[in-house]
Amino acid sequence: MRATDDTLSLDTLAVHAGRETDAATGAVAPPLHASTTFLRSADGGEAHGFSYARADNPNRRSLETCLAALEGGEAAIAFSSGLAAAQALFQTLAPGDHVVCDQDAYYGVRKGLQIGLARWGLELSFVDTADLAATARAFTPRTRVLWLETPSNPLLKIVDIAALAALGRVHGARVVCDNTFATPVLQRPLELGCEVVMHSTTKYYGGHGDVMGGALICARRDALADKLREVQHLGGAIPSPRDCQLIQRGAATLPLRVRRQSATALELARWLQRQPAVSAVHYPGLPDHPGHAIAARQMSAFGGMLSFRVAGDGQRALAVVAAARLFTPATSLGSVESLIEHRASSEGPASTTPRELIRLSVGLEAAADLIADLERALTAA
Ligand SMILES: *Cc1c(COP(=O)(O)O)cnc(C)c1O
Repeated sequence: MRATDDTLSLDTLAVHAGRETDAATGAVAPPLHASTTFLRSADGGEAHGFSYARADNPNRRSLETCLAALEGGEAAIAFSSGLAAAQALFQTLAPGDHVVCDQDAYYGVRKGLQIGLARWGLELSFVDTADLAATARAFTPRTRVLWLETPSNPLLKIVDIAALAALGRVHGARVVCDNTFATPVLQRPLELGCEVVMHSTTKYYGGHGDVMGGALICARRDALADKLREVQHLGGAIPSPRDCQLIQRGAATLPLRVRRQSATALELARWLQRQPAVSAVHYPGLPDHPGHAIAARQMSAFGGMLSFRVAGDGQRALAVVAAARLFTPATSLGSVESLIEHRASSEGPASTTPRELIRLSVGLEAAADLIADLERALTAA
């Protein structure tokens, strides 16, 4: 199909972008191309547009076409994990360059900056990007990247993408948005002025908890996209052809899954809010969430992630997690099965997450069954 046909809706692109019936065999489902090397032509060139699988391969090219189409970007570069994608973005910078990063950005992104990239000579500022004035003050003449994540983990904080994109533009910084929690189904950072979107495709894209991946999608096929392609090629943190095939398979059902997961999460959030055993619910779809108005403007639904605090201490939260039967106690998110997690334990002793907080990744089970499970866990604990 014409993968870049921008008259097609997201649901249609999710099924067709980057996919073609195999010319050699007529296979309708995308074949797995495991070959590491590709035929050369008589003049030494690439006979079929590929040379070596780290540089490019048919499954990765299909996935990247799909990711670019869904996000509305001109180029997508796929990696072996979300953090490999984040590192690649920062590796395009030079020593002395400055990064402004949201203080609630994914733990691994912040740690990767502080440990690896500070040594590389990057200057770092961590700010609350929900505070536009504080974010504006953080810029220096060397600021090259403003890194956003919304909704954030685990408090589901919302930041104003369009306002921050405008702020980044004024200061000559590239604005990058980690769109993992929202996915392009719910939120369109490139249309709101960001230049790059990052995904952990391990989560909603893969969607079945059985493959890891990451991606950067660039608004334009420009010098930055070329540099990122170079880091992908020379850094070598590439997804395998099978990983690409699985993530692209996940992409086909992404819109269906994410809309359903959002609807169920909203139902759960409303139910949790009425429980005396629950002291707070963090979900941007609730009108009393501090970011609700912005979320309602920049998201088409509020996502499948939510967190809540039990009335009581960390021990009680752990007991609730342990008492759940349908929710599986495990980290990660975006899969078909619902997960429940005591975030403070996962993050370790340095965690600043409230100890009475429980995070849910809502899967595809029936809302009534999930509510019954939470009710039982809250009562049993
Ligand atoms: C999981 C996650 C990452 C890191 O991705 P990996 O695939 O685990 O490397 C980054 N950002 C967010 C929001 C995530 O949930």
